[in-house]
Amino acid sequence: MSGNNFGPQEPPQDPRIFNRKVNGAYRPLAGFFNALPPIGGMVCHWCKQPLTFDPQRGWTHPEGGLYVMYCKACGWEGAPYPSPTTCPNCGDTHSLRDKHAALPEKP
Ligand SMILES: [Zn+2]
Ligand SMILES: [Zn+2]
Repeated sequence: MSGNNFGPQEPPQDPRIFNRKVNGAYRPLAGFFNALPPIGGMVCHWCKQPLTFDPQRGWTHPEGGLYVMYCKACGWEGAPYPSPTTCPNCGDTHSLRDKHAALPEKP
């Protein structure tokens, strides 16, 4: 046996479950045996957009970014990936802020 002892009912690596990275390996969320969310059926707690699980980066917004960003100058909001440093709308280089990170929840 390797070091991964989750018990005999451990399913194969499943992005619905193994979305918490610990020491380089994906580990299940606490309590995942109780409630398995439908794959692809998660939405962001903050913006209610559907989330996609990326094995490399975790949960991402429809535009591909983990973070929704906003522009203090023009009010632009989006989650492009990679994260821009210049506002895609008004071109301001100092007004982009992180708004929130993707937080999966069941709709
Ligand atoms: Zn969001
Ligand atoms: Zn802007």
